[in-house]
Amino acid sequence: MVHNQAVKGRKFLLFSLGAIALVWSVTGYALLGEPLPEVLPSLNPGGERSVALPVFFAGLFSILALAAIVLVRRALRQAEAQLDLHRQLVAHTSEPIMITDATQRILAVNGAFELATGYSAAELIGQTPSLLNSGRHSPAFFQAMKQSLLGSGAWEGEIWNRAKNGEISPRQLRIKALGDIRRPSHYVALFTDTRAQKAQEARIEYLAHHDPLTGLPNRVALGSHFDAALDSARRQGSRLGVVVIDLDNFKTVNDSLGHHAGDLLLCEIARRLQHILVDGEHLIRLGGDEFVLLVENIHQVEAVIVRVQAIMRTISAVCEVDGHQLHTSPSIGISFFPEDGECPETLMRNADTAMYYAKSNGRNNYQFFAAPMNVAATKRLHLESELWQALSDNQLLLHYQPQIELPSGRIVGVEALVRWQHPQRGMISPVDFIPVAEETGLILPLGHWVLLTACRQARAWLDQGVDLGEIAVNISAQQFKQPEFAKSVHSVLVETGLPAERLELEITESTVMNGADSSVSTLLELKAMGVKLAIDDFGTGYSSLSYLRRFPLDRLKIDRTFVADLESDADAASLVGSIIALGRSLGLRLVAEGVENSAQVDSLRSMDCERVQGFHFCRPVPAEDVVAACENLRQTVKSA
Ligand code: C2E
Ligand code: MG
Ligand code: MG
Repeated sequence: MVHNQAVKGRKFLLFSLGAIALVWSVTGYALLGEPLPEVLPSLNPGGERSVALPVFFAGLFSILALAAIVLVRRALRQAEAQLDLHRQLVAHTSEPIMITDATQRILAVNGAFELATGYSAAELIGQTPSLLNSGRHSPAFFQAMKQSLLGSGAWEGEIWNRAKNGEISPRQLRIKALGDIRRPSHYVALFTDTRAQKAQEARIEYLAHHDPLTGLPNRVALGSHFDAALDSARRQGSRLGVVVIDLDNFKTVNDSLGHHAGDLLLCEIARRLQHILVDGEHLIRLGGDEFVLLVENIHQVEAVIVRVQAIMRTISAVCEVDGHQLHTSPSIGISFFPEDGECPETLMRNADTAMYYAKSNGRNNYQFFAAPMNVAATKRLHLESELWQALSDNQLLLHYQPQIELPSGRIVGVEALVRWQHPQRGMISPVDFIPVAEETGLILPLGHWVLLTACRQARAWLDQGVDLGEIAVNISAQQFKQPEFAKSVHSVLVETGLPAERLELEITESTVMNGADSSVSTLLELKAMGVKLAIDDFGTGYSSLSYLRRFPLDRLKIDRTFVADLESDADAASLVGSIIALGRSLGLRLVAEGVENSAQVDSLRSMDCERVQGFHFCRPVPAEDVVAACENLRQTVKSA
């Protein structure tokens, strides 16, 4: 547009000068008295020479010519100003711009271009854009660019340029041909810096595929890791191991120390695991306390066992979190491609199944997926949903097993043991459903129901004048760790009217020792209420003697596995002897569970164990049979 106006202005100027020249020549002629040419007879009809007429014309044309000159100058000034504006626009545009001629010689660049490339305009002008070639693009790339310019007069795409300092970076480039497309006069190239946008895209991509807490790849990233690992396993004919890792008791950390501590623990575990990763292993956080490790290139299963054992050691090492020494352990499930599944979904499901199996096997262990395990896991899942129903449909009940004093034979206590009367499957043992209840959190309502029912029953016996000593109730780890646990026991005692000293709580050794400091305060609270406290299954966990001294306990319950081996195994006998001696030294009473024959009774009596419980005396029986069973027992003991 600027160009056109300038051209128009120039033409108008020439025309005006022509007109002035004509006017002056006519005027000159008239003044000199020469006849007008015959072509202009209308201007001089009389054929007479006249001075007035040429002078009039000369004046008129002069005015017109002057007006034309003024107009032309104004147009030229405007065009010049507009041209300057456009120049400034290009010069101050933040995007680099380059103008070349038809042979690609650089004619002009703006300041942004100089800044982006590090070259000055003087260095660039006269060169071709190949000065900026990064070497990243093939000849075919430039060929395609040329074709596009020839075809449509334009090209757009990403190009890597090399700056003067050698640094190469990507830019979005738009080239436009000016003039006739087939024979363009110039090319204008506009560069856009896409690095910030690319960095932003990369950040979004990273966030979508990584877990913000641990920085590990997340569940979304699992798919691509799986695809690549399966591809390579298929190509190489090797196995792929899928190792699902779940932390045991992580919920307890969150519940007791807060989510911040839980987060720190997860970060620490993730950091440790990352540290031991080797080539061909990919660690992903699935969410919560669940991780998955893909192990490529497995030729022998033993290799995976070695890795899994390393993981177990790493996770089980004490973690110092917020000033607390945390002990955690993993339950691990393993599946293999191709044996246990061909696709990620099946492999993950089967590794998960194996992991649940590890959990139900007492946690802190690993299991491989195998068909029988799958069946067991399905059964377990079924059990879980049915257990909710059981609680609301009153399918749970309590059986009671008497405890006998030695040597008197008096009944001095009864232990309440929960049973599940399943409508189709009959009586289900607590060994099968208590772990499921613990994992699903159902243990809390279930445990409360047991405590309430047992206390009510004990009160009812007292009201009937039947003295069966203490009622012992089993308390699960989760129940015991509830901050309000002691208060809930108190309210049950108030509600049922059972004197506190008639209630004995059985807590397993591992429960009290795990988080021993907070155990001490809960136990003290219970003790202050007058409730009796026994350590169940004593000898199966790792007790710290210093804690045993600090716990306000009443009784140790010797685990039945030691009692079972009393006669056959000298080690078991000496172990029972040591437990009894330890109990005495701590001022505790003792009870041996699982007593099945008179030989065991004799051994225990000789070791001064004052209380026993077992099938030898009485099996656990329903509440309505307890009084008769105890009467029976009294008779037997008397006559023995
Ligand atoms: P536990 O507290 O050690 O209970 C003793 C278990 O030994 C009972 O099994 C009892 O029936 C069994 N037993 C008693 N005498 C003998 C014997 O002479 N020989 C053998 N082999 N076993 C004997 P049960 O009722 O199957 O309970 C198993 C476990 O389930 C209990 O072990 C306890 O840990 C848990 N449990 C039972 N009821 C409850 C409950 O109400 N709450 C909680 N949290 N756990 C419970
Ligand atoms: Mg018990
Ligand atoms: Mg026990």
